[in-house]
Amino acid sequence: MIVILKKNVTSEEINSLVKKIKALGVDAQVSEGTGQTVIGLIGDTTRVDRSTLQANKYVDRVMLVQEPFKRANRRFKEGNSVIDIGGKTTVGGTALAMIAGPCSVESEEQIVGIAKEVQRLGATALRGGAFKPRTSPYSFQGLAMEGLELLKVARAETGLPIVTEIMSTNMIDRFVDEVDIIQVGARNMQNFDLLKQLGTTDKPILLKRGLAATIEEWLMSAEYIMAGGNDNVILCERGIRTIETFTRNTLDVSAIPAVKKLSHLPVIIDPSHAAGMSWMVDPLSRAAIAVGADGLIIEVHNDPDNALCDGQQSIRPEEYGVLVDKLRVIASVVDRELK
Ligand code: PEP
Ligand code: MN
Repeated sequence: MIVILKKNVTSEEINSLVKKIKALGVDAQVSEGTGQTVIGLIGDTTRVDRSTLQANKYVDRVMLVQEPFKRANRRFKEGNSVIDIGGKTTVGGTALAMIAGPCSVESEEQIVGIAKEVQRLGATALRGGAFKPRTSPYSFQGLAMEGLELLKVARAETGLPIVTEIMSTNMIDRFVDEVDIIQVGARNMQNFDLLKQLGTTDKPILLKRGLAATIEEWLMSAEYIMAGGNDNVILCERGIRTIETFTRNTLDVSAIPAVKKLSHLPVIIDPSHAAGMSWMVDPLSRAAIAVGADGLIIEVHNDPDNALCDGQQSIRPEEYGVLVDKLRVIASVVDRELK
């Protein structure tokens, strides 16, 4: 349920109404926009009498929200969420988030070298897996703690914020202290314990869409994080399972306008895991920006042929540079900008 207040209601009046709402046993989330203040009611609203609320002198109208996601719902907040990445950059504003780097951290030379290259070419954050969720237990599992340390070296050398995937709740404290954006991978999108615990932190969370998750399920996972009090959620479409086998997954381009309609959260695209082929990263990235994505997370490797993970879908730094130049042109026609 959302309560839309009349114009020019003072903050004391809002506070008194919030108190009354909370006394009914539900939570109230206030969103003060430039034009109008909205109070979102969260919890079991079945005992909240809509007509009594409607009769309140500060209330303009009361609306029922059909969707199960509340805090993530566009109707609960005016405007788009802009996520601050530790004061270093933002995701969701006019500037596009350009996250780039290898699938996994392999060595200091590799990660620092790639970080320097992508930074020069326009990246705003560095990606690199330290803990890898591989399909086979015999594949390279990542450098774990050593990988995390090397990411920090790359950050110190370039100033780029670092994005890396968390696999276990045991690592949360360490990630909160040491990482700028915590990535929840597609395979963990419905690891509700992990989501709940990440909700108690204030770290930006990059939440990838599950391999076969609907848009609503994905937004409900965002809701899990937000329900704990962490509103810093960035959604990432990375392709879903369909009947098509030509590509590794099928990039759901329509998820971008759909999420934009349903939610105020920023949404970026990962064309690398969607396509699974390096040559397709360029056209899919262009489509992503044209359709309104808030940014891209792209796998870039200095030596894709010998990469320990996902080399077939990794582009080289020089290809990244060519792509960024093309994206600059597209960004300008959709009122976005690149660094
Ligand atoms: C990754 O980003 O390296 C990754 C494993 O992605 P996903 O969770 O989307 O498969
Ligand atoms: Mn990968």
